[in-house]
Amino acid sequence: MKANVSIVIPAFNEAENIHRLIGTLHAVFEDLPYAYQVLVVDDGSRDGTLDVLRRLQRQDDRVQFLSFSRNFGHQHALKAGLAHAQGDCVISMDADLQHPPHYIPKMIDEWEKGFDIVYTIREDDPNLSYFKRKSSDLFYNMLNFLSDLEFEKGTADFRLVSRQVADVLNSMDDSELFYRGLVKWVGFKQTCLYYKPLGRFRGQSKYTFRKMMRLAQEGVTSFSTRPLDIATYLGLGFSMLSVAYLPYALLSHWLGHTISGWTSIIMTIAFFGGLQLLILGIIGKYLGKLFVIAKRRPAYIIKESSLEWKKEELFY
Ligand code: UDP
Ligand code: MG
Repeated sequence: MKANVSIVIPAFNEAENIHRLIGTLHAVFEDLPYAYQVLVVDDGSRDGTLDVLRRLQRQDDRVQFLSFSRNFGHQHALKAGLAHAQGDCVISMDADLQHPPHYIPKMIDEWEKGFDIVYTIREDDPNLSYFKRKSSDLFYNMLNFLSDLEFEKGTADFRLVSRQVADVLNSMDDSELFYRGLVKWVGFKQTCLYYKPLGRFRGQSKYTFRKMMRLAQEGVTSFSTRPLDIATYLGLGFSMLSVAYLPYALLSHWLGHTISGWTSIIMTIAFFGGLQLLILGIIGKYLGKLFVIAKRRPAYIIKESSLEWKKEELFY
């Protein structure tokens, strides 16, 4: 029997890209001896992505989709896709054709050689804006400094995982949704491929600055408590400094120079005020995570799914 490959594609307002991507995927698999299933996760799009998906599904049974009740975010869409994909291996990729489909055969080759995880690293891309490149570098530098795992620059969510790894990822019922980290963390036999990214086919990046910041925070706080350690050391360091400052303050007092100390007092108050807020913020982030976990809300809500239609068809 032919091995079965699932392709999971999170899509948020990608109506203009989906058609083209799925066409390319059909073409790629035409030459491959594999059965495949494309599972697009519509992350609450507002631009007719769902209509396109319904149409494509009617034309070809190998295309399936899930549709969220609202925009839950890229990582949540990946989670849903991974949970519903049934292939012997699962490939995840972006909907905008920046992850070139013609690398898929190479990924499958590596899997056939016995690797459980084939992740990819983006080669430097002249198409990317200066801002995007620098912010991506900064993101990985910060992540490596603050977390306990080592991340290569330019890893994206373009990867293949074996059935076993997919099951492991699905069994992790946590809200730590940073798949780049989770996939590193689970171990198994991993290998990486370098790819040249293409320009976004249509539309603009759906990763707004806010979403990028949220992903960065999630990455750090999910995989490390180092920010808490840093907060402790900062607090310790500065209280020691302030103790050292005490003799100077006292001396000034005795010498009758107290009025001139106004500047330093203001500076110290402002500085420590800021520092305390920062540290409170960091502690708050971790507390917030506990709060989210304690609520035990689902990671996403599916409003419509072609997979369910299949089930219903059994009752006709
Ligand atoms: N995406 C999503 N939900 C979101 C934002 C993005 O499902 O809230 C999808 C998007 O449709 C695309 C992938 O995640 O398939 C990567 O997003 P994008 O290409 O906008 O990010 P960039 O390549 O600019 O980092
Ligand atoms: Mg993109």
